[in-house]
Amino acid sequence: MRILQLPALRDNYIYLLYDPETATAAVVDPTVAEPVLEKLAELQAELVAIFNTHHHHDHVGGNLQLLARYPRAVVYGSQVDRGRIPGQTVELQAGETVEFAGRQAKVLFVPGHTRGHVAYYFPESGDLFCGDTLFAGGCGRLFEGTPEQMLGSLDQLRQLPEPTRVWCAHEYTLNNLKFALTVDGDNPDLQARYQQVVALRQAGSPTVPSTIGEERRTNPFLRWDQPALQAATGVQDPVRVFARLRGMKDQF
Ligand code: ZN
Ligand code: FE
Repeated sequence: MRILQLPALRDNYIYLLYDPETATAAVVDPTVAEPVLEKLAELQAELVAIFNTHHHHDHVGGNLQLLARYPRAVVYGSQVDRGRIPGQTVELQAGETVEFAGRQAKVLFVPGHTRGHVAYYFPESGDLFCGDTLFAGGCGRLFEGTPEQMLGSLDQLRQLPEPTRVWCAHEYTLNNLKFALTVDGDNPDLQARYQQVVALRQAGSPTVPSTIGEERRTNPFLRWDQPALQAATGVQDPVRVFARLRGMKDQF
């Protein structure tokens, strides 16, 4: 399975999963259809699945146009998002498994950004598609969930193996790390990552994917139990540390 990263709109990433042997493809969070249709034509591949992480327009905006061209494609989304994912055909629950070209992905229920948010985790290849839950250096805003829910979701992701690639849905890394430095500035891993990300952006290169290990070491939203973050927020309880960090980032 090859993973193709298609930049779209201002800062979205659409992911095309492509299996050359069967000439089939699946797409994760198609905000728009055009770049997906172009790539499918170039690869001469058939779209067989759409994996949506949540219902926000910048993640499902291309669903119907893709379905018009590939009516047999299966559209996956959370059961909680029933009625708000265009063309949805499968309603997923936590712990279910989905499949593309013989590869299994676990459906992780990760509410907080929205109440139905799911992530798709391919354990064999170590690839995580986490939408707007975990970002490189940050996390999604709490639109429909509580800090408790989001903390539980991020904790689930934090426990995945360190080499797991984190394919998040937005290129927000530089700004995320600027904030991170204001709360965890003495962290040498964070300082080094910031320099790398500045260089990547200056070269016009993506900073995604990162890895779970990298996020554990440098993402303040996965570091609620570290003394530096407890000091920066002035609280100790994990949920309160997380809630304060999220509030500070909202104002940043
Ligand atoms: Zn979103
Ligand atoms: Fe988004």
